[in-house]
Amino acid sequence: MSAAATREGTSPAEFTGIDFSATGKQLGYGHVVHSDNVHDGSVIPVPVAVISSGPGPVALVVAGTHGDEYEGQILAHELIRELDPAQLTGTVIVVPAANSPAVRGAARVSPIDAGNLNRSYPGNPAGGPTEQVAALIAGQLLPRADFVIDMHSGGSNSTYLPSSFIYRGPEEALWRRKLRAVRHLGLPYAMVVAPLLEPGSLSSAGDLAGIPTISTELSGAGTVDRSALETMRRGLPALLASLGIAGPGAETGAEPCAEPQWLELVPESPVTSTAAGLFEPLVDLGDTVVAGQPVARVHFIDELDRPPRSFAARTDGVVAILRRPTLVAPGAHLLHIAPPLDISTI
Ligand SMILES: [Zn+2]
Repeated sequence: MSAAATREGTSPAEFTGIDFSATGKQLGYGHVVHSDNVHDGSVIPVPVAVISSGPGPVALVVAGTHGDEYEGQILAHELIRELDPAQLTGTVIVVPAANSPAVRGAARVSPIDAGNLNRSYPGNPAGGPTEQVAALIAGQLLPRADFVIDMHSGGSNSTYLPSSFIYRGPEEALWRRKLRAVRHLGLPYAMVVAPLLEPGSLSSAGDLAGIPTISTELSGAGTVDRSALETMRRGLPALLASLGIAGPGAETGAEPCAEPQWLELVPESPVTSTAAGLFEPLVDLGDTVVAGQPVARVHFIDELDRPPRSFAARTDGVVAILRRPTLVAPGAHLLHIAPPLDISTI
């Protein structure tokens, strides 16, 4: 079957099993079509759940934007199982494996088209598989949402301090709603980055659409951090409660539950290798360092008489992101130092 015939037959901008006007718990999938040796004559399913009590606020919960970031995926599946539409006032839309080919391939980007979903918004319904996923989410789900959370982790290449991750702005009202959501989520750190930091990300798409959108970085290393999971198991229901969408744990209340340690990722944050070799960190995640302090070394593999090259912090701050693979090439970010941010001055 040709891709065109599949497209005409299944309309890739639609979802099987989902009627957005219905109440209850609906489990379905979005259609992605792609004509190659494996996928011709089929659709690539993007699982989605819609749990709704009818009119009310709508939250869009996304995980698996990058396939090797796992805490959010587990949390999304839990939400789907545990949310009871009879206990909601509104709707929760959950996409637990957004770039589903990447999730199935245990990879950051899609193994089909090398597409990074978080650089693909607003997408293209007639484009490649990753662009189609972006178009499904941006075109069909985002416009229905009053709030968006896109759960990331460090992936195979890095580990983050367990953090909320938010773009500044883009304007006062949206920014205030993001800050409020971060405080309800209750993660120990919050990393603030420049407005519209990454063009084509879901956070940028949300900001451009005027919908409060936050992200998370829940540890990483291609594995699952139990502490981050436990924090989010309390934080997600508290966040949904604060949005006026009751859910399990809603009794934790609508009052902000925690003030995170606010950090800022700045242009001086990355400490970047200029050498190929073996990365040795000299600090741990969460350590406080000062500019000029040696924080990493890279050991040369073949030059046996050469001492390792040392790398220093370029700013005062907290070690916020640590690279995981030991073998590095020039240009690899070894770690990131995030200065503390006085949120009251913003
Ligand atoms: Zn990610």
